[in-house]
Amino acid sequence: MSPSSAFQPASRQGEEALERDLRPAGFEDFLGQEALLDPLELMIQAATERGETLEHLLFSGLPGLGKTSLALALANELQAPLKVTTGPAMERAKDLVGILSSLEPGSILFIDEIHRLPKVVEEYLYGAMERFCVEFTLDQGVHARLLKLDIQPFTLVGATTREALLSAPFRSRFGQVFRFEPYSPEALELILARSAGILGLDSAPSALSLLATHSRGTPRVANRLLRRARDVAQIEGNGKLDEKAVRRSFELMGIDSFGLERTDRRILEALALNEGRPLGLKNLAVAVDEGEDTLETVHEPWLVREGYIARSPQGRILLEAGWSALGKTSSSQPSLELE
Ligand code: ADP
Repeated sequence: MSPSSAFQPASRQGEEALERDLRPAGFEDFLGQEALLDPLELMIQAATERGETLEHLLFSGLPGLGKTSLALALANELQAPLKVTTGPAMERAKDLVGILSSLEPGSILFIDEIHRLPKVVEEYLYGAMERFCVEFTLDQGVHARLLKLDIQPFTLVGATTREALLSAPFRSRFGQVFRFEPYSPEALELILARSAGILGLDSAPSALSLLATHSRGTPRVANRLLRRARDVAQIEGNGKLDEKAVRRSFELMGIDSFGLERTDRRILEALALNEGRPLGLKNLAVAVDEGEDTLETVHEPWLVREGYIARSPQGRILLEAGWSALGKTSSSQPSLELE
């Protein structure tokens, strides 16, 4: 045996590959989101009976809540050809036209981060969404010609973490907006049990429930914590995922008894240093060395939901729970108009 043959190829070992393996294949694996699935299944049934393509759908919600998974599961359920791209990948109208002209009838076109689609590209998409054709002008001045390209009927599924950034005309072209909410710990336990099964992991229910309560309502976080706890169970334990392995993995990842991770504590510390005065997003991002978008969509929502911080028009402030998580007391509590 050559030394390398005992290893799986890097792409199969990577976190991304693992995340792909854990993706729900169809609706029956898409757990804990009946509020989304019920109306979607009804729409599918009605469109199928009428022999039409499904209307365009917008999936809106924080990262990791399952927007991509549901789009892929939808294509699977419909047995529809699937094309996947992202808003920023389509820099010019040419990129969009290339994709649209290659669509087979009844395809699902999934555009992730659709709020980052350049304005000019977005406008070309309008005709495609409404009339299944793209019109564009070739040449300029007296030689200018209007060309019309017909496109096969398709369903656009757009995903966004920033629905408010979409223009009203764009939003109005979607037949339905599905808003993804954080999952309950019970729903996350179901997802974790499914993931543990796929990973071939023998797990105690109490271990899964502990992971679920630390997953911030987000399946992607739940699966990440599960993989770290699996490492501990394998290296330091007997391979079985129990509460001890989970607690040890939290310790190694720097997750404290409040469930706060290192970046969370850096955020709270930065706000505490500001002595209770509001700190603007830009300054906070510099203080904790994270991108503004990551702060807003990944870290802050949970801190706000749990009452550690608040967002106000003047900036972010540390609330009482935030001060006590740091073991400090606030010198002054500013009264602010909260968002
Ligand atoms: P988003 O596109 O909203 O950022 P993803 O669809 O990429 O989120 O979800 C991240 C991971 O979480 C997926 O790989 C999948 O394993 C898991 N996941 C998300 N939603 C569900 C769900 N409802 N049921 C089971 N697993 C889920």
